[in-house]
Amino acid sequence: MKWRPIITGGLICAAGAGVVLWVIHARLVGHWLQVHTGTVDETGPYYGFWSGFGSDLTEFGIIGAIATGVYQLVRKYNCHQPGCWRVGNHPAAGGQFSLCYRHHPDYQGKKPTQELIQRLHREHLERQALTRGGLHEAHERLMARPAAGDGGSGPGAPATPAASNGTTQAGAGALT
Ligand SMILES: [Zn+2]
Repeated sequence: MKWRPIITGGLICAAGAGVVLWVIHARLVGHWLQVHTGTVDETGPYYGFWSGFGSDLTEFGIIGAIATGVYQLVRKYNCHQPGCWRVGNHPAAGGQFSLCYRHHPDYQGKKPTQELIQRLHREHLERQALTRGGLHEAHERLMARPAAGDGGSGPGAPATPAASNGTTQAGAGALT
């Protein structure tokens, strides 16, 4: 179903009606104020403009700013699948896409069940342990080589706290 054009059209119509109502209302209030504050007889070269259409310019600006903000929010949190209007808060492909549960490839079009959540969590931990194990091995090899030469602390030093931290985290994850 093509929901996007229908919703967009409805929003534009509502916004237009809102603008018209606001402008009419502002004009009436403005006129009432002019009559009751006694400024209606004031004249000047730009008076007609600033009390007429000119006084509505700020309102158009405010409406435009609100509409832009709403549009940006929708673009940010909307599912990245074309034509989908759900909130996409499931990252896919390492955070490149935010997808709703229906379009996320891991969920197969259904809401994630308890079983699926546990399985994906387990797989995630295993993957992390694997990559950390690989990093650790690479780090050991790096450290073994420059031990003979004396200047190897430069590249090896920043990796040390991260690697040790990673192994303790993986260990804690395996225990629970
Ligand atoms: Zn979606």
